Amino acid sequence: MSYRKNFAVEPGEKVHLHKIDPSFTGKHESHQKAWPIIQKHVARMDKLQYLLYATSDQSLLVVLQALDAAGKDGVIRHLFSGMNPQGTSVFNFKKPSKDEAAHDFLWRAHLHTPSRGEIVIFNRSHYEDVLVVRVHNLAEKSVWSKRYDLINDFEMMLSSNGTRILKFFLHISSDEQLARFKQRLDDPIRNWKITDSDYSERELWPKYIEAYEDVLERTSTKIAPWYVIPANHKWFRDLAISEIIADTLDEIGLKLPPTHVNMDEIRNKYHDAEQKQAKQIDKASKA
Ligand code: AMP
Ligand code: MG
Repeated sequence: MSYRKNFAVEPGEKVHLHKIDPSFTGKHESHQKAWPIIQKHVARMDKLQYLLYATSDQSLLVVLQALDAAGKDGVIRHLFSGMNPQGTSVFNFKKPSKDEAAHDFLWRAHLHTPSRGEIVIFNRSHYEDVLVVRVHNLAEKSVWSKRYDLINDFEMMLSSNGTRILKFFLHISSDEQLARFKQRLDDPIRNWKITDSDYSERELWPKYIEAYEDVLERTSTKIAPWYVIPANHKWFRDLAISEIIADTLDEIGLKLPPTHVNMDEIRNKYHDAEQKQAKQIDKASKA
């Protein structure tokens, strides 16, 4: 079974999130058993990132969206920390700054899209402009409702320019969210993560689900698919996402770029000569 096939939302498909089990783990029994598989996928991702950077032809944009405490930060820490920082970056979408708010809603997203050879992770994204904005009435419906088509056009433009786009919705249950908030309250190391808004946003759960279902239906496209990832089990979430990313990069068929110089000539002309000279200096210093 390929998670890339199974968790993808088909273009135009109506997703009923309550029908998708957030505790799904497939044939995998435990974190312990899944761990070596996750590590294999992560190693593939690291190798493919090296090739992506070396060829500097295409790029990858990973979008992470979810309700609070669903594990966006965990995905970034667990799956991307082995990558070469030269060529990878994360952009966190917060409440827009004054400058950001003074522009169109896609401006800040566009500023941070990957250049050729790069991988960029959006921790939240331009989708907040049809999620939090819709749920909190931060813009009129006549404004946010036009954004789905604008987003599809924007992503099509990025894709035509060589950017692969993968969008992940981390799907957790309401009970799991509450359990994670409690952990944040109880564990001093996690205290900093809890905020008032976590609990007030939780009350808007049904509205967020409705907004997410519209996002999934209207913006999953062939060139920028959404994946609904069962995320109650952190290890399964990591397993599925790492597999989908590694398989997608694999498909590009990245190869080390050809060299533009004659290796033999360089070896003869410079390297061997330098070596000879170094030996002479060494000999002279000992004499
Ligand atoms: P966090 O991800 O916990 O750091 O929180 C970032 C906050 O910024 C979340 O509450 C988001 O909903 C909010 N946010 C992100 N983008 C927007 C936006 N375009 N308009 C309003 N709030 C936003
Ligand atoms: Mg938060």
